[in-house]
Amino acid sequence: MRIAIPRETHPGENRVPITPEVAKKLVRMGAELLVEAGMGAGAGYADADYTEAGATISSDRASLISGADMLLRLRKPTPDEIGQMKRGCIHVSYLDPFNEHGLVNTFKDAGITSISMEMIPRTTRSQKMDALSSQANLAGYVAVIEAAAALPRIFPMMMTPAGTLKPANVFVIGAGVAGLQAIATAKRLGAKVTAFDTRPVTAEQVRSLGAKFLEIDLGETGETSGGYAQELTPEQVEKQRQAQKDLIAKSDVVITTAQVFGRKPPVLVTKDMVEGMQPGSVIVDMAAETGGNVEGSVPNETVTIGGVTVIGKGNLAGEVARDASQMYSSNLFNLVEDCWDKEKNEFVISFEHDILPGCIITHGGEITNETIKNIVE
Ligand code: NAD
Repeated sequence: MRIAIPRETHPGENRVPITPEVAKKLVRMGAELLVEAGMGAGAGYADADYTEAGATISSDRASLISGADMLLRLRKPTPDEIGQMKRGCIHVSYLDPFNEHGLVNTFKDAGITSISMEMIPRTTRSQKMDALSSQANLAGYVAVIEAAAALPRIFPMMMTPAGTLKPANVFVIGAGVAGLQAIATAKRLGAKVTAFDTRPVTAEQVRSLGAKFLEIDLGETGETSGGYAQELTPEQVEKQRQAQKDLIAKSDVVITTAQVFGRKPPVLVTKDMVEGMQPGSVIVDMAAETGGNVEGSVPNETVTIGGVTVIGKGNLAGEVARDASQMYSSNLFNLVEDCWDKEKNEFVISFEHDILPGCIITHGGEITNETIKNIVE
């Protein structure tokens, strides 16, 4: 089976889908591996590293795409690229299928088997393939580093002959994968950390990291069978805002990570709350790209609101492209290996597999994923 890895073309994307180490494993597994020239550059890998791993380098992107049985990449393709793929080709990447309805239909019409890395079920067995988690983990770390760099104060307490500096107060909203890593990173830097999440199960996880959990009685919140937060009612959102208001005003740093799977994230920090913070304070809105948890945050920009720095940078994992590539690449490999037929040397699409059907979006000219089918058609 011929697996091809095109170079990522999204502006500012330095992560690469396959590292030389994983390339070697794919070749050893029996794949014929084609890599576009310059594919690894963003993460510091040379073409020669891939040649050494057993891959063939190609400078002809169009024929690399059209000749592939399977494409492994990070970002979604353009409609033109889908047009170049042969019918029956398997395409694996982030796809954002809840929002990219046109793309889903283009895949369907072209007869491509599209697999979405966002849709890998969050089960224990699929953790090794879970790119949402691997990238969110790094993003949580980077969010704190960015906040620390922008804050005109230090995070730890410092007792010196010149006086005592109090530790910074950090408030993390949303204690999923990114939030827990943000809490752990801020704690390691010496900050006083408080966090809140609507899923009651997170209170213990927050405390186990040495942070305080903000208790807010929102009534029934719960979580879905997949472990995701349920969307709050407008009354619950308002109650949460009011309960957080004082803590936000006293915080030096607020990191917002609240997401509701498949929906727009809730606005939890309003403009007057931002303005209620001390000038020089910092907010990192990790949800800025998908709609924002903070009123006034701008995707991929840093703005100042009432003297408060509001960072809306997306793709935070891309800031640590080398590690992010290593993790994403392992996620991809683990998925491929799990579905690989060693006798035939090919990736087998099976709707009996325990993980695959959940993340296949289109196959054989149909939208096979019921959730996506219901919203696209
Ligand atoms: P996510 O990115 O969808 O959301 C981030 C966090 O925001 C979540 O913890 C969510 O509860 C929280 N949130 C939503 N609305 C909020 C609000 N109004 N206020 C405060 N917080 C709010 O979540 P995620 O990090 O991708 O994790 C989702 C779930 O999947 C979690 O239960 C996690 O433990 C689980 N998970 C399981 C596995 C596995 O078993 N393989 C792997 C990763 C994650």
